[in-house]
Amino acid sequence: MTDPCNIDRRDDLTHRIDAMRRGETTATDRLEASLTAIDRRNDELNAYHETLEDTARAVASEIDGRIARGEEARPLAGAILAVKDNICTTEGRTTCSSRMLENYRSPFDATVIRRLRDAGAILVGKTNLDEFAMGSGSEHCAWGPVRNPWATDRVPGGSSGGSAAAVAADLCDAALGSDTGGSIRQPAALCGVVGLKPTYGRISRYGLVAFGSSLDQIGPICRSVRDASLLYSVMAGVDPHDATTAELEVESWNESMRPAPDQLRIGIPREQRNAEHHPGVSEMFERAIDRLEAAGTSIVELDLPLTDQGISTYYVIAPAEASSNLGRYDGIRYGHRAKPMPGEGLEELYARTRTEGFGPEVRRRIMLGTYVLSAGYYDAYYKRALQVRRLIREEYDRAFEQCDLLLGPTTPGPAFRIGAERDPVSEYLNDVYTVNANIAGIPALSIPAGSTEVDGVGLPIGVHLQAPPFAESRLFGAGSTIESILAD
Ligand code: GLN
Repeated sequence: MTDPCNIDRRDDLTHRIDAMRRGETTATDRLEASLTAIDRRNDELNAYHETLEDTARAVASEIDGRIARGEEARPLAGAILAVKDNICTTEGRTTCSSRMLENYRSPFDATVIRRLRDAGAILVGKTNLDEFAMGSGSEHCAWGPVRNPWATDRVPGGSSGGSAAAVAADLCDAALGSDTGGSIRQPAALCGVVGLKPTYGRISRYGLVAFGSSLDQIGPICRSVRDASLLYSVMAGVDPHDATTAELEVESWNESMRPAPDQLRIGIPREQRNAEHHPGVSEMFERAIDRLEAAGTSIVELDLPLTDQGISTYYVIAPAEASSNLGRYDGIRYGHRAKPMPGEGLEELYARTRTEGFGPEVRRRIMLGTYVLSAGYYDAYYKRALQVRRLIREEYDRAFEQCDLLLGPTTPGPAFRIGAERDPVSEYLNDVYTVNANIAGIPALSIPAGSTEVDGVGLPIGVHLQAPPFAESRLFGAGSTIESILAD
């Protein structure tokens, strides 16, 4: 049976790059097709804030010339990529979906952007997101929500919802997202595509507008696991502009290194298997376990009792870091400034500027963060959260002594309806399975696992694979094996 949400993995970026090299198609033709598709669908999906077509066309024609002359050997030559609009690019604006940065133009490219351009990528546009990457539905956006291409009355997930929707609707070959608590993996799961959050320190954050600096990572959203590994290999590695990047060599990975299913030892956290999910999620997760077992994978059930503490820990640490990172938007040095009123002091001007510039969810996070860091509450909340963070890390260390990778559902349910999550806490609970990887700094991958029918429409479900720090190649290997086991 073909799944209604199944993206053809054989027609992925890796395949498309080969087709250009063989001269079967050109970067220019593919770019024009993408721009036409964006033109046709973007009014409805609102996935892109803007396209960067002038430069994109110039780069595409330069690449076509190089291919024709036999000079093009760069790994991403002709790849049409979309960029989440919180990653700095010298072309176009970098708005973070916030009125605060409505007209911000970055004077520099993020390190990942520079590396992707050097590898031959064509940047087609900047994608919509929850304001400053705070949200799980791409609804908290200054210029309207993103819609899920599979069901346009539903969210694509968030905060990298524009990037995930653009990949799922084939409005680009692949896209960049950022993930502080799940913002790459959750939208990838809800849109039926692959999303990777690398190990903290693996990919430079230079030029990523900061949200929670100890949690943030940039990563790819793609049509296949091998595409994710391709983009990762170009972006990963030490960067003098980001002191948190690791000095470890980036291992190369390719599909020939894919393990057989019976070489895998996969841990299944009981808490995640037995939790109450949407029935479609439990069904797809059990189906994944059954198929792996049938293929000879050894399945190890284990306990991760701190899973449930992740959300409360995250929603102390992330807002605390956000409140300090967002302090720079005072209307003086950066961003929107309210019109000064006669007789008004600087404090009042700051307050009006920030009230006008930030949307309600961002204001909520700043207040939450300021509160947990305040003198009387620091020990009770922030310090406590850091202690739990250490326990979560240790729990993962113990789990990875019993298995090579952990598998669970990416989200507790499929895409929800736009406007349905009115209560912030119930929106926060979407991240119950994804936040822990950020808290512990480990790499994690969401892989399409099938779909579930809700109100007559098929909605994608994802599974979530986690590995020890810097074991991305293990994630790609197992991920690509699991991807093919689940795709049939
Ligand atoms: N949904 C989470 C939040 O709102 C995660 C966001 C992210 O990863 N950027 O904080």
